[in-house]
Amino acid sequence: MKFKFWGVRGSIATPGPATVKYGGNTTCIEIRTDNNDLIILDAGTGINPLGQELLKQLPITAHIFITHTHWDHIQGLPFFSPIFIPGNNIKIYGGLDPVTNEGIERALSVQLQYSYFPIREAELNANIEYNTIKPAESITVAGAKITPILLSHPVLNFGYRIDCDGQSIFFTGDYEPIFNIYDPEDSEYEEYQSFIDQKQQQIALAMKGVDALIIDSSYTTEEYSSKKGWGHGTFDSAIKIATEAQVKQLFFTHHEPTRTDNQLDDIHQQIIKENPNVDYEILLAKEGVDVIL
Ligand SMILES: [Zn+2]
Ligand SMILES: [Zn+2]
Repeated sequence: MKFKFWGVRGSIATPGPATVKYGGNTTCIEIRTDNNDLIILDAGTGINPLGQELLKQLPITAHIFITHTHWDHIQGLPFFSPIFIPGNNIKIYGGLDPVTNEGIERALSVQLQYSYFPIREAELNANIEYNTIKPAESITVAGAKITPILLSHPVLNFGYRIDCDGQSIFFTGDYEPIFNIYDPEDSEYEEYQSFIDQKQQQIALAMKGVDALIIDSSYTTEEYSSKKGWGHGTFDSAIKIATEAQVKQLFFTHHEPTRTDNQLDDIHQQIIKENPNVDYEILLAKEGVDVIL
C-alpha cells in the first residue's frame, strides 16, 4: 500500500508564498493498494488537483471515504472532474448524521444547491453511489478492510483504519481528545476521568501498531488553551496517543491555516527535541509527498 497527500491544511485553503513547502489545500489523501485500486480519504480542495491527475487514467473507480462534512473536508467534491465524465464509478462513503438523520449524500447535494454552485446534481455523469457506514463496522472495498472509528469533534467524525496488503494506515479526520469538564476538586472529576481514560485506550487500540498514523495536530499546547472545544488536537496529544498505540510513523496534519512553512519546521524540530525517547518517525504531512509503506 502507498499513499499521497493532496491536501494537509485545516479549516480553509491557504495558498501563498508562506505555505508553498507544505501546501495550502485542505484535506485529501490518495491511497493506492498494491493492485493499484484507488481509495481517497476526504474531499477537501486537494481532491481538485488529484482529479486533474486522474483524468490521465480514465475510466476510474474511486472509493471516497469522508471523515465528516465540515467544509474543509468536502469542498473539493463538486470540483472533482471525474464526477462529470460517464464511465467513471465514484463511490462515496460516510456516516449518518444523528442531528439531521441524513446520510453521506448530503455532502454533495448541499453544495450543489442552486445558490452555491452552477451545475445541477443531475448533470454529474459518472456513476455515483453513496454508502452510509456505521461506527466500528468494518467494510471491505478493493481488497482493503476499512474500519470507521467514532472520534470526538463538534460533528459526527470518523477516523478510518485501513488494513490492506499486510499494512495499515489510520487517519483521524478532525479529532480533539475528550477533556475533563470538571475541576479536580469536583466530586464528578474522577469518574469522568476514568471514562476518558477508557475512551483513550479504545482509540489507541483501534490505531494499534499502524504503519502510518495521520492525525489532526492543529495546535501547539500553548495555543490550545484558548481553542478548547473547537474540535482539534495538538502536537503533544498526537505524540501521546501515537506512543500508546505503538505506531511506526506519525504524520502531523490539518496544519493551522495561519501557520507558515517556517513555523511548521520550527515546531517540528522542537517536538522532536522534546521527545527523545520516541521510537517511531515523527513527520509533517506535506502536499505532493508519496509515502510507500
Ligand atoms: Zn477540518
Ligand atoms: Zn471539522
